Amino acid sequence: MRLKDKVAFISGGARGMGASEGRIFAREGAKVALGDIRDELGHEVAQEICDAGGEAMFVHLDVASEESWQEAIAATVERFGKLDILVNNAGISVSGGVVDTTEETWDRVMDVNAKGVFLGTKVAIPEMQKAGGGSIVNISSQMGLVGSEMGSPAYNASKGAVHIFTKSAALRHVGDNIRVNSVHPGPINTPMLNDGFEDPSRETKVLQMTPMGRRGAPEEVAWGVLYLASDEASYVTGAALVIDGGYIAH
Ligand code: NAD
Repeated sequence: MRLKDKVAFISGGARGMGASEGRIFAREGAKVALGDIRDELGHEVAQEICDAGGEAMFVHLDVASEESWQEAIAATVERFGKLDILVNNAGISVSGGVVDTTEETWDRVMDVNAKGVFLGTKVAIPEMQKAGGGSIVNISSQMGLVGSEMGSPAYNASKGAVHIFTKSAALRHVGDNIRVNSVHPGPINTPMLNDGFEDPSRETKVLQMTPMGRRGAPEEVAWGVLYLASDEASYVTGAALVIDGGYIAH
């Protein structure tokens, strides 16, 4: 098992890619804590993992609040004894261009997508230092590496922040044996994407720009996150793993 004896915390674990990572991590031997604002769904995913023979818990988490992070990580360490892995996966998408994006929308997407990753990393690091090291995987996007005339500049900016924050944190904490890497998914078949693709012409355009011409499955990202979380990636830090069907190869 690739995560035997590891304790992992996954933000945004109630659905989509976070839930998929939770299921796969548990199958690979990790004790998994899922944090999310969607309490009912999150409890259901944790129960499903336990029913399948894994170890999992759900804890309420709003990633935009430092206090909420402190409570969630404390609950995880109280239950499972330590913290080895953090996946900063929670995120929101927004629409609109530069001129029609309100200040409120900009602040909200930055609070969740960028500040949420900073706060999770900040609160997790002291626990990882106690554990003798750890692995942090930050979920950015292909939209954190390239712009898009169809996408939201605010979303682009928030995911770009995750990309470079990852490298900064990796350099700061290499001496603590803590690795920090980012993952950059392309269009992945999750509730978030379904909301964004309500207009079918938008999906057609995005898939035309994706050389593989299809949506990715959540598991196709989760396998990459698993690799970075595991000791198999022991020489990998500050790296950006792109899982996007070839989108940014153009
Ligand atoms: P999703 O909407 O299906 O799941 C995201 C989860 O994050 C939800 O359960 C949601 O409740 C949770 N969340 C939102 N705000 C939160 C908050 N303040 N505190 C705690 N939890 C919160 O989305 P997904 O597609 O699974 O996305 C997961 C990550 O991948 C996100 O960061 C997203 O930006 C990124 N991403 C998604 C795609 C895609 O095509 N689906 C592509 C690239 C990157």
